Amino acid sequence: MTHLRQARTVGFKPGERNVFFHILTGCNLSCRHCYINIEQHGTLTLSLDTIVTWLGLFARPEEQTNLILLGGEPTLHPDLAEVIRAAREMRYNVTVDSNGYLFHDLLEKVTPDELDYLSFSLDGPDASVNDPIRGEGVFEVCTQNLRKAVELGFRTSLIYTVSSLNIDHLHRMPALLADAGVERFFIQVIGLRGKPAAGDPAQDTRWQVDPSRWLEVVPKVAQHCAELGIHVTYPKVYLDLGEKFECAGRVTENYFIFPNGRVYRCPLCEDHSIHALSIENDKLVKNTGLTEDSFFTLDIPEGCVMNKLLQPDNISYLEDGSPMHRISCCLLKQEMAPSVE
Ligand code: SF4
Ligand code: SF4
Repeated sequence: MTHLRQARTVGFKPGERNVFFHILTGCNLSCRHCYINIEQHGTLTLSLDTIVTWLGLFARPEEQTNLILLGGEPTLHPDLAEVIRAAREMRYNVTVDSNGYLFHDLLEKVTPDELDYLSFSLDGPDASVNDPIRGEGVFEVCTQNLRKAVELGFRTSLIYTVSSLNIDHLHRMPALLADAGVERFFIQVIGLRGKPAAGDPAQDTRWQVDPSRWLEVVPKVAQHCAELGIHVTYPKVYLDLGEKFECAGRVTENYFIFPNGRVYRCPLCEDHSIHALSIENDKLVKNTGLTEDSFFTLDIPEGCVMNKLLQPDNISYLEDGSPMHRISCCLLKQEMAPSVE
């Protein structure tokens, strides 16, 4: 029997390590909200040797490190299966984030035991919602491959990026996920990076969702998922009154690696040349001057400094000038897990 638990904030754990490794930036799709920024992240595809060498820079065999292999579309890399095996040997927990096309027969080249999670991305519960955002025919391919992966025994998760274009359809996702056998659901909120940051002049799209709409819709959908046995994670976004603000850059180790050697500690900074670290000649070096870590220690009433600098429209103020909500670190999550007796 399944009992519902309340959403809980997943606080940062000291020593927690997550490595988000973009092994290439190329992609077969061109989603309208794509956050890859070619000017900042280049067009390189790293070789297998380089990927393995760079993985070694972040590996800590004595402690658990989560590795998320990303692109572009990471399955476009012909050596992805070897990358996964090399990472496992370095004791990483490995997740692949795919758009669902699963190139190079990935499902035949790795076993479910070699991969912790295979993650798919969909932005709608059917083609009429998903495809205008992610591309014609994408819903069909992605859901077919998702079902195939589940049948083969892979543990799967699904990422849904909430924006004004699809928030009204989020409530239809739990039934789809339960039917497909997806174990984990990650609800993300549209970020003001990449294409959304540049705007969509043709459509004049306002991507961001209102705080009240987010708070009205997302917890209810999470609850429904948990009732169906699906583990849900979604960003905290707005801190509750009196809740402590923490910047992940200060308390955890997160690395966002790009194939041009840039290594960020904060995903909100990825459109700017303020990365804290770089990989140069296969060595990790700390950058000097004004880098993102200069912002991590600033305390402001609005919460996250980078959010205030990059997305000031997200913040509403009371008459006395104080912010209505404090914005949490974009990496702070809430989760709702089903418990089974
Ligand atoms: S699948 Fe990912 S990398 Fe490819 S276009 Fe869409 S958002 Fe960008
Ligand atoms: S999103 Fe804000 S709070 Fe989180 S790491 Fe970046 S700067 Fe720090």
